[in-house]
Amino acid sequence: MCERSTANADSSGSIYVFDPGALTPAQLMGDACAICHAKWPRPRQPLGELPDGSEVFGCDECAGIVVAHNARSVRAHALAAH
Ligand SMILES: [Zn+2]
Repeated sequence: MCERSTANADSSGSIYVFDPGALTPAQLMGDACAICHAKWPRPRQPLGELPDGSEVFGCDECAGIVVAHNARSVRAHALAAH
């Protein structure tokens, strides 16, 4: 009688979770872009987060790539609607 529905299925899938083992300490601390390692200009765009909830930052250019990747389904929908 106590069958529960999937109450934990609340992840929207919009936040990219980085693997801490694949990032350098500078990237983990937000001192370097999590994708291209650029330290200047200082990465300020949130790209995603670590499994512990810490934010991971990237440069403007890489943030654009991530956003485009995440918005792919949205763009496909827009194209279909056009
Ligand atoms: Zn970058």
